[in-house]
Amino acid sequence: MRIYAMTGGATGIGAELKRQLLAAGHKVISVDIKEGDILADLSTAEGREAAIEGVRALAPDGLDAFIPCAGLPPVAKPLSLITRVNFFAVIATVEGLRDLLEKKQGSVLFVSSNSAPMVPSDDSYVQACLAGDEDAACAEIDARDGHTAYAGSKRAVTMWMRRHVVEYAAAGVRLNAVAPGITMTPLTERVYADAEFGGAMKEFGDTVPVGRTAQPADIANVMRFMLSDEANYLCGSLFFVDGGSDAMLRPDDF
Ligand code: NAD
Repeated sequence: MRIYAMTGGATGIGAELKRQLLAAGHKVISVDIKEGDILADLSTAEGREAAIEGVRALAPDGLDAFIPCAGLPPVAKPLSLITRVNFFAVIATVEGLRDLLEKKQGSVLFVSSNSAPMVPSDDSYVQACLAGDEDAACAEIDARDGHTAYAGSKRAVTMWMRRHVVEYAAAGVRLNAVAPGITMTPLTERVYADAEFGGAMKEFGDTVPVGRTAQPADIANVMRFMLSDEANYLCGSLFFVDGGSDAMLRPDDF
C-alpha cells in the first residue's frame, strides 16, 4: 500500500484517479474545496496552509507521491483566481510537502495541459508567475484574457517543474507532469457552456486526431502508470495525453 496526497479529488480527472488508486488498495488523502479529507480553498494562503498541515497530520511518515490536480478553467472569474489555484497553490503545496516526499523518495505528478505551449515561455505573465510574485502576476492577468490566464498558468507550472528537476532529484524526489487534452469533466462543461469560449473549444474538440475528446479515465490511467513502480525512471517528463492534438499543432517541436 502506498500513500498518496492529491488536490482536486472531488470531480473530474482527480476523482477518477482517486477512485483507481483506492481500488488498487492505496491510501489517498484528498484536499478539495468541495469534499475530501481536507477541505481547503487553495486560492488563499490560509487554505494552502490548511492543506499542508492537514496532509502532514494524516501522513506523518511521508508520501509516495503528491498530485496537485485542482484547477480552474479559463472562464473562471476573476482571472487571477486561475493564477492563484493553477500556479501559486500548486507550487506552495509542492514546496510545503517536499520533506514528506523526501522521506519516502516519492514523486510529484503535476497536471499541465496541452494548452501550455500556446503561451510563449517569455510571456510577461508566465515570467511573473515563475518569479514567485503572486500579486504582480494576478494584477497583470486581471487585465488580460482567460486563455492566457489558463494556458500561461500551465506553461508556468511545467517550466517550474522542469527547472526544479535536478534539485528535487538530488533530494530523491522525481517531478513529472501529465498534459491532458480536452477531457469531459465539469471543468470542460463550464468552458463548453461559455458564450466566449464554448464554440472555439468545441471546434478544437472536433479536430482531435484520434476522433474524440478524452474521458477522465483516459488521463487517470496514464497518471496511475506514471505513479507506479514501472515508471520510476521517469523524471522531468511532460507526458501529453491528448489524442494527438499537440503533435498536430506542433509537429516539429518537442
Ligand atoms: P474539475 O473541475 O472536474 O476538477 C477540478 C477540481 O479542483 C475539483 O474537484 C474542484 O473542486 C477543485 N478545485 C477548484 N478550485 C479549488 C480551490 N480553490 N481549492 C481547492 N480545490 C479546488 O476539472 P478537471 O478537468 O478534472 O481538471 C483537473 C485538472 O486537469 C486541472 O488542473 C485542469 O486544469 C487539468 N486539465 C483539464 C483538462 C480538461 O479538458 N478537463 C485539460 C487539461 C488539463
